Amino acid sequence: MRKIQVVTLFPEMFDGVLNSSMMWKAQDQKAVEFKMINLRDFGLGPRQQVDDTPYGGGDGMLLMPQPLFAAIAAAKEYDSSAKVVLMTPRGQRWKQALAQTWADSGDGYIFVCGRYEGYDERVLELVDEQVSVGDYVLTGGELPAMTIIDSIVRLIPGVLGGENSAAIESFSDGETLEFPQYTRPEDFNGMKVPEVLLSGNHAAIAKWRAEHSLKSE
Ligand code: SAM
Repeated sequence: MRKIQVVTLFPEMFDGVLNSSMMWKAQDQKAVEFKMINLRDFGLGPRQQVDDTPYGGGDGMLLMPQPLFAAIAAAKEYDSSAKVVLMTPRGQRWKQALAQTWADSGDGYIFVCGRYEGYDERVLELVDEQVSVGDYVLTGGELPAMTIIDSIVRLIPGVLGGENSAAIESFSDGETLEFPQYTRPEDFNGMKVPEVLLSGNHAAIAKWRAEHSLKSE
């Protein structure tokens, strides 16, 4: 069973996402196990401090190295070969091709969520991969981690219903986006389903779909 662990100050943020729909199903099928590691448990002193001011000055606080190192060590104790993935706008941009590679790899992952102004740079000593979900700044690494986890776990064999579901989705060939789709009714407030999709002519339908698949940038 794949182990996916998350080092975070806000484990409760993951409850709804990881316990619904496909993510719940993946756990139910024993395809994946999720484990939250609360960074606060590794905080220093009676107030379980996890952040401090940056050397050299500047706004905001940084996650200190000691709690991060201790939390990642605890995650490694559970899954010693797991890859450590840091959520950061500086990381490589997340893509469907990476989701597929990571889903196929069989590896466990430890996602480390930054907060405040970020983290002490020395945590990079422990990090295998740095990943960004796009060129914008979020308040913490939790939403990026959820996005990445969802995109990987749904590609683990057996998690999605139809065997081909993932293979025909947007980006699955690296560039095309899914063609337009319709369901009942045939006519909704005068907006009609394209005739060809009702024809039963599989070749014509495939041609129409190919023509209407958009190329991504
Ligand atoms: N000061 C940092 C900067 O300018 O790049 C931003 C820190 S952000 C407020 C706090 C944390 O959220 C980051 O350390 C990172 O873990 C996470 N984060 C924010 N935006 C992200 C993105 N686009 N992709 C991945 N993680 C992100």
